[in-house]
Amino acid sequence: MSLVVVGSVAYDGVKTPHGKVDRMLGGSATYTSLAAAYFVPVKLVAVVGDDFAHQDSDLLASRQVDLEGLDRVAGGRTFFWQGVYSSDMNDRATLRTDLNVFAGFNPKLPESYRSEPYLFLGNIQPSLQKMVRAQMPGLKLTGGDTMNYWIEDFRPALLETIREWDFLLINDSEARLLSGERNLRRAAAAILEMGPHTLVIKRGEFGALLFRRDMHFAAPGYLLDTLIDPTGAGDCFAGGFIGYLAGRETGSPLADADVTELRRAVIYGSVMGSFCCEQFGVDRFRTLRREEIDARYQEFVNCMAF
Ligand code: AMP
Repeated sequence: MSLVVVGSVAYDGVKTPHGKVDRMLGGSATYTSLAAAYFVPVKLVAVVGDDFAHQDSDLLASRQVDLEGLDRVAGGRTFFWQGVYSSDMNDRATLRTDLNVFAGFNPKLPESYRSEPYLFLGNIQPSLQKMVRAQMPGLKLTGGDTMNYWIEDFRPALLETIREWDFLLINDSEARLLSGERNLRRAAAAILEMGPHTLVIKRGEFGALLFRRDMHFAAPGYLLDTLIDPTGAGDCFAGGFIGYLAGRETGSPLADADVTELRRAVIYGSVMGSFCCEQFGVDRFRTLRREEIDARYQEFVNCMAF
């Protein structure tokens, strides 16, 4: 059984206090897929142009990421995003967004993807997220991400879309914007009324909060000694979170999942987000081994016990 991941596959130009890369593999679905594939086979749904390099598709294919759903548009160019980080890397400015083939993204799932039980919808237009979900009748677990732009300008469509999700994974400013509440506990309570029974609020270097109606759980951020490039950390968090849950293969829906399993998923999310920041772009995933993931998970367990 596989996890279907939908979102952007991109080339990124990134500048951080540690250096600058003009063009490297990126995109939300790329990061989520690479992180999730340590736990479960992934089927990717995205669009690229014919400038998409073979080394990049080879990297994904070498990590149990199925590329039948990666649409290559002849004569088109791959989505390009360029950003620059502040000196403490807590803020970033977008310098350039060239949507290119992503502007016409109309995700069509290959027949072999439609019966899969797990779906992660990356940050794309809410109506497209809804359309993808509608193509998968046998889902056991659906969740996704969104951003300010969709919350502010596409609110009715977004609310209609997330109503059908098991979990929503957003950052703290997005949670405040979506709920209209400043206090995160109140924000979470309001969002849990919108449909998803599980909410994860990412807080960058400060960790993540998990909410359900009857519980919450706070995971610290991993204290990295060197943070090189935070691009994609949120997407890798998502990959670790849903990848861990999907990889359990218990057959039970998330609504019935033991909360201990959800806490573990949040920690695996934090672990994958932290590895992502250790090198530029996806580079850390070229060498990362499952044993290192489990060792860092154990570090979390040790540092959280009191
Ligand atoms: P994150 O740092 O987790 O927010 O993810 C950064 C990734 O999102 C980069 O690799 C970008 O290519 C991708 N990205 C940036 N802007 C957009 C957008 N408008 N839609 C989809 N993906 C985007």
